Amino acid sequence: MDFPTRFDVIVIGGGHAGTEAALAAARMGSQTLLLTHNIETLGQMSCNPAIGGIGKSHLVKEIDALGGAMAKATDHAGIQFRVLNSRKGPAVRATRAQADRVLYKAAIREILENQPNLMLFQQAADDLIVENDRVTGVVTNTGIRFNAKTVVLTTGTFLGGVIHIGMQNHAGGRAGDAPANALAKRLRELPFNVGRLKTGTPPRIDARSVDFFVMEEQWGDNPTPVMSFMGSRDQHPEQVCCYVTRTTAETHDIIRSGFDRSPMFAGEIEGIGPRYCPSIEDKVNRFADKDSHQIFVEPEGLNTHELYPNGISTSLPFDIQLAAVRSIPGFENAHITRPGYAIEYDYLNPQDLRHTLETKFIGGLYFAGQINGTTGYEEAGAQGLLAGLNASLQAQDKEPWYPRRDEAYIGVLVDDLITMGTSEPYRMFTSRAEYRLILREDNADLRLTEAGHHLGLVDDERWRRFNDKREAIVAERQRLETTRIHPKTDQSAIADGYLKQPMARDNTLAELLRRPEISYAEIAEIGGDRAGADAVEQQVEIEIKYEGYISRQADEIDRLRRNEETRLPDDFDFDAVGGLSNEIRQKLKEVRPETIAQASRIQGVTPAAVSQLLVHLKKRD
Ligand code: FAD
Repeated sequence: MDFPTRFDVIVIGGGHAGTEAALAAARMGSQTLLLTHNIETLGQMSCNPAIGGIGKSHLVKEIDALGGAMAKATDHAGIQFRVLNSRKGPAVRATRAQADRVLYKAAIREILENQPNLMLFQQAADDLIVENDRVTGVVTNTGIRFNAKTVVLTTGTFLGGVIHIGMQNHAGGRAGDAPANALAKRLRELPFNVGRLKTGTPPRIDARSVDFFVMEEQWGDNPTPVMSFMGSRDQHPEQVCCYVTRTTAETHDIIRSGFDRSPMFAGEIEGIGPRYCPSIEDKVNRFADKDSHQIFVEPEGLNTHELYPNGISTSLPFDIQLAAVRSIPGFENAHITRPGYAIEYDYLNPQDLRHTLETKFIGGLYFAGQINGTTGYEEAGAQGLLAGLNASLQAQDKEPWYPRRDEAYIGVLVDDLITMGTSEPYRMFTSRAEYRLILREDNADLRLTEAGHHLGLVDDERWRRFNDKREAIVAERQRLETTRIHPKTDQSAIADGYLKQPMARDNTLAELLRRPEISYAEIAEIGGDRAGADAVEQQVEIEIKYEGYISRQADEIDRLRRNEETRLPDDFDFDAVGGLSNEIRQKLKEVRPETIAQASRIQGVTPAAVSQLLVHLKKRD
C-alpha cells in the first residue's frame, strides 16, 4: 500500500519544540514526519497564552531570524504587545505579547500544513527502534513502524505525567490529554538519566463573573511592537486591555488553611518546580511576611470569556482554590471554569546531550524542549529549531551547526543545559548571557539570518529583506559618520538646543549621537534627514551609542574564541591527563565537554586543569 513510512527525519510531539523542529528539518529539504498525539493540539499553549518577556523574546527573535514560526504566529495572534524594560539599556529590553490561544494554534497549524516536505500523522509514539546504538525508527501505539535516519523527541510534560489537584491525582500529559507512559518506560530502559520535575497552572476564570472596575487597567504599548522581523502591525488582531489585582491577607489565610492538603507540602509531589514561577502556596509559605502578591488578569482570547490570572498557579484542593480566588478584589463572585493543577513528569538529564542536542548514547536521536528540563514555550521552540536543523544536517550527511554563547541565546541555553545539567526547570534570563550587549533582541537577525540562509532555513523573501536592511544600516551609519555640523550654522543652533555642552568645534552627527543626552530622533532634526525605517534607525542608534561597550565585549569574545574552537575529541581519555584532581577528572568524565571552553565552564574546573587539558591535547596531536 502507498503509505509513506520512510523519512529522513521523524519528530515526535507537536508542541513548541516539535513544531519548530519539524519545520526546520523540512525547510532544509529533509523529508520529515511530525508524529503527534493529536493534530488538534498542534502548537497548543499548555499554560499562559503569552509569548516573549525578558530573556524569552530574545529566543523568539532568534528563532525568527532562522526562519522559524513562533514570532510569525505571535504577530497573527497577539492581542496585547508591550516592550518590557523600555527605559533600561537595549540589552535587557524585551517584547512580550499576550496571545489569543485559538489564533496562535491556527497560525501554527497553517504554517505546518503549508510547509513542503512535511507530513503530519496523529498517533502516539510508543517505542523507538534502536539498532547498534543508533535510532532507526519509531513504533506507534497501533504498531505502525516508521523509519528515519534521525529522530527528534519533544514530548514536553507527557512522559509519565501525573496531574495533582489537592490530594487527588491521575495520569495525564496535561489537562485533557493522556500521558506518554509506554515511551517513558522505554526511555527508562535506555541508558539515560531520568528525573522528575513539576510545573503548575492557575485556575481559569469567567470574565462575566469579574468586577474589573476595582482593578487597575493595563494597556499595551502604542505604537504596537512587532515580534517577527518579517511582521507588521497590520497583521495584529484587535488589541485588548489586561488588568492588575492583588491577593489579600484573607487570601493568604485561606491558602494556609489548605497546606495540610497540598500535594506539594504533603510530599505527594517529588519533582522540583520552576523557581521563578512558583505556585501561590509556595509564595505564601516562603514569603510569610508579605501580605499581598500581584496578579495580572490576562484574557485567553478574543472569542472567549476565559481569563488567565497570572500569579496564582496552584495545586491546592478545589474548595481552597475557590475560596482563595473569591477573596481577591474583583473576583468576589468569580466562576472558575477550570481548576488549577500541578503536573509531574519525567525529564532527561541534558548532560547526556551534545551541543546539537543529539544524545551521546544513541546516534541520530535528538531531544528538545521540556524533556530536557527547561520550562517555557520559547526555550522549547529554540531547542526544537536547533535539534531539527541538526537532525536534518545529519540525515543529509552534513556537518552539524550550533551557535556559540557569544552568538545567540540559543547557544547560551544549550551550553548551560549540557554543561551544568539542571535539577529544576530552567528558564532563560538575560543575566545568563555574559555577552548580553551583543546578544540583543533587536539584532537577532544580524547575528543569525546569514547562517540561517547558508543552512537553508531562511527563504528568499526574508533573505532579500534582511539584505536591504543590512545595507540601509551601513549606509545610514556612513551618513552619520561623515555628515559634519559646523559651529555657527543653523544646524549647530538646533544641536545646541539639545546638548548639555554646546558644540565648540565641528562635529559629525555620529559624534553628537554618542552623547548620552541626545537621541536619533533629535539627530534627524539637526541633520534634516533620517533613515526612515524604524528598525534601521534603532540599530544605528544602538550601535553608535554603545559602540565602546560593544567593541570591548567583541574583543573579549575574540580572546576566548580559541578555546571555543579547540575541540576535545569524543575519544579523549580524561584518565590519561596528568595533574587533575579526582574530583575534576570525575566531573569532566561525567560531562564529556566538546571544547576546551565548555570544559572551563564546568563548575569546579580550575584554570590549571584547563592548562593540563591543553597540554595533553597537544601531546596527543
Ligand atoms: P509540549 O508543549 O508539552 O508538547 C509536547 C507534545 O508532544 C504534545 O503535542 C504531545 O501531545 C506530544 N507528545 C508527547 N508524547 C508523545 C508521544 N509519545 N507520541 C506522540 N506525541 C507525543 N511554562 C512556563 O514557562 N511557565 C509556566 O508557568 C508553565 N506552567 C505550565 C503548567 C502546566 C500545567 C503545563 C502542562 C505546562 C506549563 N508550562 C509552563 C510549560 C510549557 O507548557 C512548556 O514549557 C512548553 O509547552 C514545552 O514545549 P514542548 O514542545 O517541550 O512540549
